[in-house]
Amino acid sequence: MQLLVPTNWDPDLITALSRLDADVQIYGVLPTSMIGSGGSGPDGVHMLEEQAEEYIAQAHATGLTFDYVLNAPSMGNMEWEESTHQELLEHLDWIDSVGVDSVTVTIPYLVELIKNQFPRLKVRLSTIAHVNTVARAKLFEALGVDSITLDVNVNRDFAVLKAIREAVTCELTILTNNLCLYQCPYEYYHHDSLGHASQSCGAVNGRYVDYCVLRCTLDRLADVAQTIRCRWVRPEDLHVYEDIGIDMFKTSGRALSTERIVKAAAAYASRHHDGNLYDILNVVVPKAGFVGFGLPNARNSGIEPPRFHIDNRALDGFLDFFTKQDCLSGCDRCDYCRQVASRVVRFNEGKVDEYRGTLRAALDTLSSSKMFKLRAGSRKQER
Ligand code: SF4
Ligand code: SF4
Repeated sequence: MQLLVPTNWDPDLITALSRLDADVQIYGVLPTSMIGSGGSGPDGVHMLEEQAEEYIAQAHATGLTFDYVLNAPSMGNMEWEESTHQELLEHLDWIDSVGVDSVTVTIPYLVELIKNQFPRLKVRLSTIAHVNTVARAKLFEALGVDSITLDVNVNRDFAVLKAIREAVTCELTILTNNLCLYQCPYEYYHHDSLGHASQSCGAVNGRYVDYCVLRCTLDRLADVAQTIRCRWVRPEDLHVYEDIGIDMFKTSGRALSTERIVKAAAAYASRHHDGNLYDILNVVVPKAGFVGFGLPNARNSGIEPPRFHIDNRALDGFLDFFTKQDCLSGCDRCDYCRQVASRVVRFNEGKVDEYRGTLRAALDTLSSSKMFKLRAGSRKQER
């Protein structure tokens, strides 16, 4: 089995992953980079290029390959300005020179640029490119990608998965442990915010507020069925995807602890997980993902995010329903995920209510502009 696993740059992770019974590849990126990335990395990690080079060499020494993530959805047109284009080439020169095996990108132009000037590098297309149709998969394959990570929203849409598999010959990957809202309406904005915040040449210099995670967490806690609608795949169900011809399974969670990253990778490598499915999912929680703003947030309020318990063993056979269900058109009239949630999900209602109150207060600080110390009333007076 081919498994693509995130790194938080902890050296201990390399040893643990090299022992798994799978063909493991690691993916990661420095906290800020020329191109940026569309996801969150670990807090408080200040890696330099030299340290990353050493880490990549260590991974290679244990037989692991390394994928460098360059998947911000936009570079704010820096790619078209001569001086920043030169920096882009220098950054890719460095990636190529340190022996990175593949890169994951979202921007179509980067696919062509890397294929043209850095032919040694294998090019993977990020899930952020939202390949969810045959037409889109074929066009990206024609552009030159070697591998496509499919839009996570089609993880349980087997007709689409089979059709894409028949239409393209490149490697296909699915994300397995994603806890994002099904059809998340904030997704494009979220990846764009994270991309710009992680760009070393960006105007915002790392400053941003993770509004999207505050909002999606509140939505998830408001309706427990959302936890089941999310498109995670159980380790026990990987064979369904292998039968279709999916080549690779990717776990997400660059910001997770080493213990949690290894636990998830081990579960998927062994195709089995006893106990709480929540423990191997990429649970993204609101955090102070910005610098210099005094916004109250769920983490520094002292209230820990509530834990869920999802009984994985009670989910045997769960996936069968999706072989006949069209979720894209049927979600308003279907109660399947709610019924499953009431059977397999447990949580402390008091703690969830308390946490929701904290999130609502934080969101109010944003929507009222109080975080900028601006008040709608005083603004009107000034006019
Ligand atoms: S569910 Fe949350 S973390 Fe996932 S894409 Fe949407 S806003 Fe981002
Ligand atoms: S259509 Fe049914 S099975 Fe599909 S996500 Fe909605 S509730 Fe779940």
